[in-house]
Amino acid sequence: MVVLKKRAVATVIVVIMLFSSYIASASRQDGIPVLLYHHVGNDDGGLPRLTITADEFERQVALLHNAGFETISPEQLIAYMKREEVSLPERPILITFDDGYDDNYANALPILQKYGFKAVFFVVGINVDRAQRLSAQQVREMAKSGFAIGGHSMTHSDLTQLSGPELEHEILDNKRQLEGITHQESLFFSYPYGFFNLRSWKKIESAGYQGAFTVLSGVNKAGRDNIFLLRRIPIFSTTDFDALLARLTGTYSAHMLLDYLPEHMDSIINSATDGLL
Ligand SMILES: [Zn+2]
Repeated sequence: MVVLKKRAVATVIVVIMLFSSYIASASRQDGIPVLLYHHVGNDDGGLPRLTITADEFERQVALLHNAGFETISPEQLIAYMKREEVSLPERPILITFDDGYDDNYANALPILQKYGFKAVFFVVGINVDRAQRLSAQQVREMAKSGFAIGGHSMTHSDLTQLSGPELEHEILDNKRQLEGITHQESLFFSYPYGFFNLRSWKKIESAGYQGAFTVLSGVNKAGRDNIFLLRRIPIFSTTDFDALLARLTGTYSAHMLLDYLPEHMDSIINSATDGLL
């Protein structure tokens, strides 16, 4: 009887060990998620779909934190994508913000810091120091505090529609400007509206950026996805974050997250058409 009990306990332990190692390795095996935020605060700047309140942002960050997610740097993501040796947490995630709103500094930053999270802020060149946008001083301070500052073009134009010199201005001048502000290299780019083509991708690469982010949905998987076409999951005011988290913490496969796409791609396309992203 005692022997049987011991065997049963041993079996349960082995099953639990196997199960937890399967769960633990699930997220890295299946790819790394990158979240995309815009406004965080009470003032939506006329963009309600792209705005979540600070309370909701903190709820989402706390849920990620409690689920064991740890933010990684974009450099770690790129190393993983290139299959280089890199130390990653059990549940890695990257958090990004597009467009450089000043509420990112005022509202999102303190919450990220409270939970020990990092993020990447993609800044539009001509908007620096404009009303409701990040100031050069704030951008510098964020970079100093260990947050990455990336390019999001000079004027938020659709890069696929530009001539060579215009493309050069949008990508290179934005990079130089941000580096002048932060005194650090700006190594990552996000495509305005998520629009990309081969020319813009190659220009971003030759400008010295190490990777570029789209709004293609799903998670980023080494060996499958391109580092200049990285996927992101946009978080809208209408996003069911608990349902998303359930997928991210489950034993999802990369394509399972792609069916998260339709509703959100509609929103992206609508937003892009409205010139909002
Ligand atoms: Zn944008």
